[in-house]
Amino acid sequence: MRKRILVTGGAGFLGSHLIDRLVARGDDVVCIDNLQTGSLQNISHVRDQIAFVEHDIIQPLPELGEFHEIFNLACPASPVHYQVDPIHTFKTSVFGVLNLLELAKKQNCKILQASTSEVYGDPFVHPQPESYWGNVNPIGVRSCYDEGKRGAETLLFDYARMYGVTIKVARIFNTYGPRMDSKDGRVVSNFIVQSLRKKPLTVYGSGEQSRSFCYVEDLIEGFLLLMDTPKVVQGPVNLGNPYEFTMLELAQKVNMHTGNHVPLKFEALPQDDPKQRKPVIEEAQRLLNWIPSVLLDEGLQRTVDYFKNNLSIKSE
Ligand code: UDP
Repeated sequence: MRKRILVTGGAGFLGSHLIDRLVARGDDVVCIDNLQTGSLQNISHVRDQIAFVEHDIIQPLPELGEFHEIFNLACPASPVHYQVDPIHTFKTSVFGVLNLLELAKKQNCKILQASTSEVYGDPFVHPQPESYWGNVNPIGVRSCYDEGKRGAETLLFDYARMYGVTIKVARIFNTYGPRMDSKDGRVVSNFIVQSLRKKPLTVYGSGEQSRSFCYVEDLIEGFLLLMDTPKVVQGPVNLGNPYEFTMLELAQKVNMHTGNHVPLKFEALPQDDPKQRKPVIEEAQRLLNWIPSVLLDEGLQRTVDYFKNNLSIKSE
C-alpha cells in the first residue's frame, strides 16, 4: 500500500535521509521544515517527488490532508544550534509535539518521535537501557533540549494512555554521516572539516569522554522498522551503535581517514557535557531484529568522502 507520510524536520540531516528511503519505496511524502537548521539543498534531489511546506511546528499546523504516519524530526539537535534560542527549542519539543499529537489523534495515524539519548543526561548508569530515568540538569544550558525532549516523551505516552494514539519513541544516540552540517559544531563534522582543512582538531576537555556513533543509514533503517512493526511497543526504544569511543580515539581515526595528521588543540569542556554515553540496544534487537551494521571506520570514510566532495577545503 502506498502510504501518505508527514515528515517534520524533513530538510534536516536525518529527515532528508528518511525521505530518501520513503520516496524510494514509493510513499507519498509531505515534508514540513522551518529551515532553521535544515536546508533545501538536502532535499533538492527529491524536490519534485515530495511536497514541501515551510512551517514552524510550534504554530498550528496548516491543513494538509490525511496521513497514515507522522515522523517528527523537527528540532535543532546540536548544542550550538539548540542553544541559540533555548525558549524556541523548548517550544519546538513541547508545543510542536502537542500540535502533531492532536493531528495523530484526529486522524488516527501513527506517530514516531525522534527522541534522544540526552534524556539520560550525564548518566550514572552505563551503558544506558531504556529503563534508566537519567540524570538531567533541569536548569542548565542543555536543559532546553533535554527537558524539552523529556516533556515531549511525557506528552506522547499520555496521548497513548488517554486517547489510544499509536506512538513510537526512538531514543537516538549520536548519529553521523553525509549531509551533516559542517557548521553545527558536532564532534564528527568538526573533526572531519578541521582535518581536511589542516587545522588543529578542537578536543573539548581531556578528550576522554566517550560517545557511541551510529551511521545514518543504520539509524534510518531502525526508524522504519520501528514505525512498521506490528508488535506492541510498550516504551521508548534506544537506537544507536553500541561501540564506544573516546574523543581522542575519534580524533585519531578521523586523521587516519583524511590522511592529514593534524595536531590536537585542547579547549574547555562545555557545561553539562555528558562524560560517557553508550546504548543498550537489546530492546531494538528483540522487537525489530535491528542491529547497526556500519562500523565507525567504514562510516567515517564515507563521511570524509562526502565532505571532500561538498566542502570548500580552502574557506575559513
Ligand atoms: N566535542 C569535542 N570537540 C568538538 C565538538 C565536540 O571534543 O569540536 C566533544 C563534546 O564536548 C562532547 C562530544 O564531543 O563531549 C560529542 O559532542 P557532540 O556535540 O557531537 O554531541 P553531544 O554532546 O550531543 O553528544
